[in-house]
Amino acid sequence: MFHYDRGLFLTKSRLALDVQRRQARGFVSHAHADHMGRHELALCTPATSVLYQHRCGRRAVLEMPYGEPTVWNDLRLTTFAAGHCLGSAMLLAEEGGTSLLYTGDFKLSPSATARQADPPRADILIMESTFGKPEYRLPPRDDSIDQLLALVNQALAAERAPVIHAYVLGKSQEVTRILTAAGIPVQQHPQIYEISRLYQSCGVELGSFHRYERNWIPGHAVVTPPRNSKAFRLPGLPSPVSIAVTGWAAHPSTKYRLRVDHAVALSDHADFDELVQLVDRVQPREIYCTHGPESFADHLCGLGWNARPLVPSPQKRLF
Ligand SMILES: [Zn+2]
Repeated sequence: MFHYDRGLFLTKSRLALDVQRRQARGFVSHAHADHMGRHELALCTPATSVLYQHRCGRRAVLEMPYGEPTVWNDLRLTTFAAGHCLGSAMLLAEEGGTSLLYTGDFKLSPSATARQADPPRADILIMESTFGKPEYRLPPRDDSIDQLLALVNQALAAERAPVIHAYVLGKSQEVTRILTAAGIPVQQHPQIYEISRLYQSCGVELGSFHRYERNWIPGHAVVTPPRNSKAFRLPGLPSPVSIAVTGWAAHPSTKYRLRVDHAVALSDHADFDELVQLVDRVQPREIYCTHGPESFADHLCGLGWNARPLVPSPQKRLF
């Protein structure tokens, strides 16, 4: 039903799934750079369409609202919320009596700014497994939120600027909503502000946030891209307290690796236990794992599932 040829494809329809090279028809699960290509026709949810065209320019898009099937010949395609960022979707493909669920990036637990994941059952499951090692069990979301708010309030009480490093699309808006809901106004890096305005245009309320101009305004938290991105620096920040917000913070060395004062474990990806929960919910006959450690497929096999890594190879692989 699908094959791998330097990217995933539904074989009969030649529909590409999150392939970065330009394709005649490509499904875009969400608007992160490693999932988007400048396709002749992109298939995605309406919110992803807004974010995708902001990032890739105006393009032909077939919009697929959650839960509304699109039928091509004998192929039926339906999107389901993936809980990863605004517009993120899993794709259910049904063809010749077989169903296949492609997850894209996903998270099962709730988010302040993305619709909660709603995975259907399927015969074949192709799943991301970024946090597919047992050490990536994240603390409860509320504990991470409390930790973030305590760090920000401590910095503000000391008249220092709390500077939060988060991905431009998704995590930054999530962090902003958490802070503004707690009464802390936010100044956003211009790149983040642009995306936040698009979130607002799609009906996601983010509270009191502003574009960072030349100076930090006392009493505000600052949200800026991760330190490994080129453009994270902002002028006019006196003695900042830097806080990375990332699922990788489940590992204690993360704050040293990221060169920040603190790291808070809040993720927009499923953690190890949620990856296993997804499999329980989908009840698939076959599982292919991508974007994660090969050992995760072994772990699923140990639980009695028929799982293997979807290993990219230079040769076309048929399944
Ligand atoms: Zn993503």
